[in-house]
Amino acid sequence: MDRNDKEWFGKVSGLVKETKAHFANDARERAAAGKLPKSQNIILNEKEVQGYWDVTRVLETTLNGRHQITADDLAAFRQNMRVAQKRFGGGAGITARQVINLAGGKPLEYLHPKDGMDSDIDKARREITRCLAVSAANRTVRFITNASPESDVQRHVVIVDFLAYEEACARLASMYKPTEKDCRKLADWMRKQKLAFDCDCGRHRYFFRYIASIGGFAAGRKETGYPKIRNPGLNGVACKHVLRVMSEIERSGLVLRFLTKHLMNSSEYKASTRLTQKQTEQEAKEQARTKIDVDPSTLIKARILLKKAKNALFQAQKNTPPPKKITTASQVKTKSVAEKLSDKFFSVKNGLFKLFGK
Ligand SMILES: [Zn+2]
Repeated sequence: MDRNDKEWFGKVSGLVKETKAHFANDARERAAAGKLPKSQNIILNEKEVQGYWDVTRVLETTLNGRHQITADDLAAFRQNMRVAQKRFGGGAGITARQVINLAGGKPLEYLHPKDGMDSDIDKARREITRCLAVSAANRTVRFITNASPESDVQRHVVIVDFLAYEEACARLASMYKPTEKDCRKLADWMRKQKLAFDCDCGRHRYFFRYIASIGGFAAGRKETGYPKIRNPGLNGVACKHVLRVMSEIERSGLVLRFLTKHLMNSSEYKASTRLTQKQTEQEAKEQARTKIDVDPSTLIKARILLKKAKNALFQAQKNTPPPKKITTASQVKTKSVAEKLSDKFFSVKNGLFKLFGK
């Protein structure tokens, strides 16, 4: 196996400092890019999307093919934003389950898929298999995940704000000498409530942070520049690291244990909880043994089925020799493998359409 199986988590003692420095640098770079003079500024800002558009401005989009942005594109962007906001249901935050379901419902596909993995959910299932909650301050929990084999970093940090933390603390305050069991019950409730997130990877920064911002679930800085080149259709919802973290939040016993400990530490709506290096090592071993799949929803399962049928059809068509001259005998012949697969593909596709309208 790759390096991710061995000490993928690195040193945890400097994690908070390192993460703060990373996001501060990200914010500085973004602020500088936003301040560039009009001739060099490539950010399509909020006012411009609203229609306050200087017609001499030259900016491109990849929406329906690469071209210069027009007023029609701006209208399409606003429409995409409204559709996305409707998809997320409004209000602050999103649940872990919603993130997983939405990621499968309208994925942002990779332009250059590797080993058949063309979406973040595929990659979260196959590449990002390590995840631990390692430190928390009040409602903010820092998770680390392994990085993919081709990444130039060792790990990624995903920040999750549990928006129900204060309510959990308030409930705790009204209990008579709350026990560990009480805290576990509360932690289990809290992890199913709404949250906000941020990831230190480039995919989140350039493709998804804008979506998290307009959807009301960005835990860090809000992105106001429309992703006109990388994600003009506002597809998908989260990177592979966030999707792994969401799956673990939903079902991992280790995450439940961490959140329970954090609530037990809480007093007057505040707490700080951290794993030591040794604890991280032990938990990493435990986590490697507990395999949690990024649980596909019915829709994701249907999409996987469709993709399999499509691939099989493509292979069969590739392997089928060109048709011979039609004779009366061959016309009545039974269906070829490619034809059978083609039938299967279209029946799956039609079934999908009936179920989900896409
Ligand atoms: Zn990420």
